[in-house]
Amino acid sequence: MQTTVPVLLPLAIDMSYDYLLPEGLFVQPGDFVRVPLGSKERIGLVLDVAVGGSGKPVNPARLKAVIERLDVPPVPAVSRKFIDWVAQYSMAPRGMALRALMSAKAAFQPVKPKMGVRLGAQIPNKATESRQKVLQVVGDHVWSKVALAERAGVGASVVNGLMKSGVLVAELMTSETLPGPDPDYAVPTLSEQQEQAARSLRASVIAGKFEVLLLDGVTGAGKTEVIFEAIAQSLREGRQSLFMLPEIALTSQFLRRFESRFGVRPAPWHSEITPAERGRIWRGVASGELRAVIGARSSLFLPFKELGVIIVDEEHEPAYKQESQLIYHGRDMAVVRAMLGKIPVVLSSATPSIESHVNAINGRYTHLKLTERFAGAKLPDIEALDLRADPPERGRWIAPKLVGEMAQVLERGEQSLLFLNRRGYAPLTLCRTCGHRFECPDCSAWLVEHRFHNRLTCHHCGHSSPVPRRCPACSEEETLVACGPGVERVAEEVRERFPEARTAILSSDLITDVEEMRTLLEKISAREVDIIVGTQLVAKGHHFPGLALVGVVDGDLGLAHGDPRAGERTWQLLQQVTGRAGREQIAGRGLIQTYMPEHPVMQAMVSGDRERFLKEEGEARQKGALPPYGRLAALIISSNNSAEAAGYARILAQGAPRSAKLRVLGPAEAPIFMIRGRARFRLLIKAQREVDIQAFIKAWLAPLPKPKGQLKLTIDIDPHSFM
Ligand code: ADP
Ligand code: ZN
Repeated sequence: MQTTVPVLLPLAIDMSYDYLLPEGLFVQPGDFVRVPLGSKERIGLVLDVAVGGSGKPVNPARLKAVIERLDVPPVPAVSRKFIDWVAQYSMAPRGMALRALMSAKAAFQPVKPKMGVRLGAQIPNKATESRQKVLQVVGDHVWSKVALAERAGVGASVVNGLMKSGVLVAELMTSETLPGPDPDYAVPTLSEQQEQAARSLRASVIAGKFEVLLLDGVTGAGKTEVIFEAIAQSLREGRQSLFMLPEIALTSQFLRRFESRFGVRPAPWHSEITPAERGRIWRGVASGELRAVIGARSSLFLPFKELGVIIVDEEHEPAYKQESQLIYHGRDMAVVRAMLGKIPVVLSSATPSIESHVNAINGRYTHLKLTERFAGAKLPDIEALDLRADPPERGRWIAPKLVGEMAQVLERGEQSLLFLNRRGYAPLTLCRTCGHRFECPDCSAWLVEHRFHNRLTCHHCGHSSPVPRRCPACSEEETLVACGPGVERVAEEVRERFPEARTAILSSDLITDVEEMRTLLEKISAREVDIIVGTQLVAKGHHFPGLALVGVVDGDLGLAHGDPRAGERTWQLLQQVTGRAGREQIAGRGLIQTYMPEHPVMQAMVSGDRERFLKEEGEARQKGALPPYGRLAALIISSNNSAEAAGYARILAQGAPRSAKLRVLGPAEAPIFMIRGRARFRLLIKAQREVDIQAFIKAWLAPLPKPKGQLKLTIDIDPHSFM
């Protein structure tokens, strides 16, 4: 009898396939193997036991054999459990979770040997200053030439010169020989409050047990410094660390902060790193050579050999939710990963999500609070500017009072930031003569004018066309008018009002890459810009010492959404963006333009009473049996044939089992009914907390016809988007 092994493939398949093991080939769970599948060869993961399928034994005569075992570090048991857990929870095929884990192709290809340099036997005679710098940092490590030059702060030619004179010699690089982060490289002096929080974090890392800690500290409290203490402790314990960020735009800033604290940069993990780099990091994490990673949500799937702590920075950020392919919430899955790995996870935020805050208040999470800004900096003074009483002039968007304050700030040589969470010039364009409105041909959405690119663009599907000179409906020339403001239009108004000021726009469609973003942020920090106009790109994480005033152009924008988190989201965004002001010596001020100054969100902003706001929002969730007090799931049915989608949605709704513990709402047309030419209907399941919502959905869908052809059914457990 020949041995077989269960192999999971990174495809949209839930079950593992059995393969024969050829004589003499030895594999273990966690190994990667190359196997035949149909006429192709695939790489798959060896599992502990077979999963999915009918459980009936397959005729051994029909089994195919494993081709080879790959020379790749094995996936630890905890990561194998993790992909299983994520797949079960999100109701996705296991293979799709494995695909997330295997998202570094180069890791599975033979490693190309890389040459580095190290100190040779040749004694240097009379080194120049820059050569000395190199000799000071080189130590007994093998460096890549680039890394060595960068660390020494010299050009590549200096390193080449030292090689020529034989002081440095070439050597095969295995990253093992590179210096790792040093927990004691630059230990900060913490404030009393910071030290208290840091102590809890260190103790938790030392205990090495599953624990969720909510680091709940106002903007500018120095949460990062405190978090670094958890990472330092993890390093001291001989374990790896994962620091998660919601957006890659923030990575470079954190790489630098990490380097100042620990002496080396951690490995960055996000969509913009090169394939070769991904492969190198994947292997380094799996072998344990790499000790610290800073990454986007997908970094959770990296096969850490010995992870000691996970940090989820800005834990409230919607960007942690992945909305396509494998649908999961990075924060929630970080908690799961920590639970499976029996390690602490730190959720950090100045504006915690209601879910995390409720868990902290209930004692399920450890609540660590930082109530003061570091070094006595004051929180900004916030005022709601009632647009009913003090409206901007016609065709203008900045109210007189805000204009007046910006002028004063400019006079003092300080910086202002105007925030509007809307890209482009104007959200709607219409024809003055016939009233024609420009709509996306494939989505239920208006086209947004982008004047800088001179195009009309759909923000849902990316459809884009040049702005026409004639109205396509009535053929009149030069009749198009822009309605409402986007950041480009606000910037135009700023330039008209303050022609002498240096103005910059920060919006994702105007900035082409991370590098350009970094340069611009540095210019702002160096105070080479007086007035910044930006979208949510500026709201997060940045530290601008000269920023005195934040003006919110449309404070009500987010409140228009009818979703259960609209209030919370708006409050978080307003807190984050106004929190950019006054982070050092300068006193900060925030002015929020609103038509609803009496709204609880505006009240919370003005009073600064965050505890009360969080408490009241939590109570509202409890009353509505919404998360975390209840569970939600959405079924989204879409098709390019609207009638077909509607029909299938009705079949689903009619087939829903009855239960006293949950309700199935809908089907309803999605708020954005058409996206990319596909009609969309939604069903919402609202369940009590103890309900196994996945089991319910499984039982519900099992007897019903499966979607075929153009028809698609998407299951979104714990939806955060209701569009
Ligand atoms: P938060 O993330 O809580 O908004 P940061 O961690 O960005 O705050 O800290 C705000 C500023 O204060 C940063 O410039 C940081 O370097 C500085 N800072 C905070 N704590 C300390 C400390 N203990 N020693 C020196 N600088 C600190
Ligand atoms: Zn569109």
